[in-house]
Parts: sequence; structure tokens; C-alpha cells
Amino acid sequence: MIYALVDGKPTRPTATGQRAACGCCGGAEMISVCGSQVAWHWRHAVGADCDSWAAGKETPWHHDWKMRIGEGDPARIERVMVRDGVTHRADAVATHPDGDIVVEVQHSGLSQVELTQREDFYGRMVWLMDESGFGRSWYLGREHFQVKRKFGRPVILDTVNASNQQVLILLKPSIAPGVMCGERLDGGEWRAAVDRATAPLAPCEWCKRYMAKLQEKAEAQRAIEEAIERRRQESVARAIAASEAASLARAQREAEDRKAAEARARRAAELQHWRSVRLRPGDQAAIEADLRRLDAEAERRGRLVLRHPPSCG
Ligand SMILES: [Zn+2]
Ligand SMILES: [Zn+2]
Repeated sequence: MIYALVDGKPTRPTATGQRAACGCCGGAEMISVCGSQVAWHWRHAVGADCDSWAAGKETPWHHDWKMRIGEGDPARIERVMVRDGVTHRADAVATHPDGDIVVEVQHSGLSQVELTQREDFYGRMVWLMDESGFGRSWYLGREHFQVKRKFGRPVILDTVNASNQQVLILLKPSIAPGVMCGERLDGGEWRAAVDRATAPLAPCEWCKRYMAKLQEKAEAQRAIEEAIERRRQESVARAIAASEAASLARAQREAEDRKAAEARARRAAELQHWRSVRLRPGDQAAIEADLRRLDAEAERRGRLVLRHPPSCG
């Protein structure tokens, strides 16, 4: 932390090993660190920082931006904020025509969860980031970036131009998904960037063209998908028609087979019939002779029966 309380007054350290009280967590002992590699700062004498969001070294970049934005006013630097019983220290609070605005000075990369948590906690805020804080992003040209993280608040990107001069780019979430739309502010005009950060973003020509291209691509993709679907439906219909024709032909063939089998059975029965009834002349005479013999035998058996009635037995 840049400031800690000495006799109740926010004070910057002037040498290593000085003692002070934390103005954030209610008086924990602080010890000063004034090395050559880090910005001169206070840290908790025992344990970790009382703000879970405060992590990493106090780099000169971080330190200088907090001092510039807070304009050296201890009340605007590392401002303690409480929301729903949770306490965090905003890096700096800038003055703004519409009222104070939190500026989170971010050097190290954040996860999406951490990023969204901070935006929700601070509400009215703007990010001030360098390249590493901005995370993996892709420069699309004309101050537009394809970003990996979803930002809900504007980002002032601290970067350099081709001649290695400091350049600030004010980036806002664009109408295009995953894209930040930017405005270049040469000469490190952080004041202008903060003032313009809250103004609603009018879709620029680049963003409109980008959206049109996206739409074109989506339409082409949809047309391809529709053509594939149409072809699939046609082939299904063809398969159904083919299978229907095949089953109809099979039924017809089966009916014809059945009819032929019945006709043949009928003819065979006729043949059987005619074979049994069509007699040769000799057969007829033999049958007639047999019948006569059988009749005679029947007559003789009848007489024998009369001559010897069973009662006489
Ligand atoms: Zn503390
Ligand atoms: Zn744009």
C-alpha cells in the first residue's frame, strides 16, 4: 500500500522498517519496504494483505498510475470500499464530471471470474491496464481488439506506438461479440480517457463493417446448412419411395404366385377326378360283371340267412 496511518495520518514511507497502522483493516501493524526494485510501500507486518484482491508486487508502474489518477490525494488512493459487508480497496478514484469513478490499475492478468467480480463490486469503474493485464488479445486493426475476456467496463490500455512513445487507447465493449472498440489518445491523456470512458459507445464504421461481415458469414453458413438439410430430406424421400415400390412389387409377385398355385391345384384335382371317372370299355364290363357277381352273392347270402334263422341255431 502507498499510504498507512502514522498518528492517524495517511503517510508514505521514507525508509525501510518504519511502522504504521493499516487504514483498511482497522489498525493492523504495517512495515515499510523501500527497496530499489519495488516502489516504496507498506505491507502488513504479519500475514497476507487484508484485501484478498491485493496480490503481487507493488510495481513502479502500478504505484505511479495510482498516484497520477489519485492526484496524490490519500483519500483517492487505495480507497476502502464496503459493499454487503465485504471490504476491498479500490486502486484509485478519479474525479469525473458525472461524479467520482473507480480506476482499477491492473498489471497482472485476471481470470474471467475475478474480472467480473471486480466490475460487480465497484460498479462505476474503468480499467487501466498494460499489455500483460489486458491478457491474450488479438489486434484487429484500427484500434480494435479481439479479447479473450469479456469486459463489462471500458479499458484504458497503456501501450506504446511504433516510435516507442506512450499511447493510451480507450477501449469499450463493441457491438461485435468479443471485440473492444477503441479510440487512440496520444501523449498519455489519461484525464481525457477517464472523462470519455462513461460516454455511450456509438457504433463506429469499422464495427459496422465487422458486424456486416459476421452476418454475411453466418448467412453463408446457414445457406450451406439448409442445402445439406434439403439434400438429406430428398434422399430420405427417395429411399422411402424406393422401398414402397419394392414392397408393392413383392406383394404383386406374391399374389401372382398364389393365383398360379391355386390354378395348378385346381387342374391337378380335375386330372385326379377325370382319372378316377374315365373308364376303359373292358374295365366297365369287368365292373359290371363284378357288380352282377356281388349282387348274386348278396342274394345267395340273403337266402342262406332265410333258410337258417338265428333262432333255430
Ligand atoms: Zn490491513
Ligand atoms: Zn468500433
